[in-house]
Amino acid sequence: MHELSLAENIINTILENDGVTPYNLLSIKISCGPLSGVNTASLEFGIKMITEQSGMGNIKVNIEESPAKLECECGHVFDNESVFCTCPYCNSKNHKVLDGDELNIDSVEVQDDKKN
Ligand SMILES: [Zn+2]
Repeated sequence: MHELSLAENIINTILENDGVTPYNLLSIKISCGPLSGVNTASLEFGIKMITEQSGMGNIKVNIEESPAKLECECGHVFDNESVFCTCPYCNSKNHKVLDGDELNIDSVEVQDDKKN
């Protein structure tokens, strides 16, 4: 499963940050473009599975779908969630992706101080 290795990468990247440990991580915010080919439900499931298995507790996962933007060869810029669509202006299928194929970790929330 593609999303499971992505989830693993995301967790590892987050834990590489100073001050973030498996014990103080509260929530993760991710933005994901519709053209990234990532199934956000699977990604969220993967993150929850990995964090639970490694005893990291109940971490809130917030995945936001960012808008997609395509630019047609005619210069028309439009929103669409598929690269295989046609331009609403000239019907061409030749366009490039301006936005929407990204997968970013927007922010993480950690617990301020240990209150054990
Ligand atoms: Zn066009």
